[in-house]
Amino acid sequence: AIRVTGLRKSFGALEVLKGVSISAREGDVVTLIGGSGSGKSTLLRCVNFLETPSAGQIVIGGEEVLCRADGRPKDRRQIERLRQSLGMVFQQFNLWTHKTVLENLIEVPVHVLGLPKEEAVARARHLLDRVGLAQKEDAYPAFLSGGQQQRAAIARALCMQPRAMLFDEPTSALDPELVGEVLAVIRSLADEGRTMLLVTHEMRFAREVSDHVVYLYNGLIEEQGPPEQLFGDPQSSRLKQFLKSVT
Ligand code: ATP
Ligand code: MG
Repeated sequence: AIRVTGLRKSFGALEVLKGVSISAREGDVVTLIGGSGSGKSTLLRCVNFLETPSAGQIVIGGEEVLCRADGRPKDRRQIERLRQSLGMVFQQFNLWTHKTVLENLIEVPVHVLGLPKEEAVARARHLLDRVGLAQKEDAYPAFLSGGQQQRAAIARALCMQPRAMLFDEPTSALDPELVGEVLAVIRSLADEGRTMLLVTHEMRFAREVSDHVVYLYNGLIEEQGPPEQLFGDPQSSRLKQFLKSVT
């Protein structure tokens, strides 16, 4: 479970998040939608402390992230540990280009977590099979399609046995014909009850896969609710406008 309360984030004079609270219970898929610059990526990056929040509270798996008065993390090791419990997948695939797919998957489990190599390899192979890349373990990323690279990135995140997954527009950089294969993998994770925070512009997918949808506008939650309600009967005129512009 992930709970964010009263999250604020400023970059200099620019306040990007102005007090946002969201929560994803165990097994929930919570989807963030909103226009460019509304703060979706910043919110996800705060949840795993790629950005330091200016204010607010973040609780991951019942554990509160400890901060100093100025918002800085109190305990780097806690941040490291919590970050490792969240699998993050970005728009850009971020695979290590000089490592094979299999090496990409086992690198952190072996060299950071200290998992025995055979165990990491077995886990990686199982996950590659699951995302349809069993035949590609020895390939270098440059020889994979964008969809394959993104599926490998998802498998790599899963190798850490994360408590929850964070996806930031995982299909935005893909050619249209490759979007479906990546969404299928994400859907299968949702179906098995993974906790997820997802940022996507794929509204149809969001409607199908989400338990809860949050519409961000200019750093604040403008409207939120179950997908049928948010997409089927939006109340805010900004949300109506937004939905018109993206579908
Ligand atoms: P998009 O749909 O385009 O990805 P977004 O909702 O993810 O948009 P963010 O990336 O969270 O938006 O950015 C929100 C605002 O914060 C933008 O105005 C952006 O320029 C600003 N911003 C984000 N990161 C930084 C940074 N490191 N330094 C300064 N400003 C930043
Ligand atoms: Mg973004």
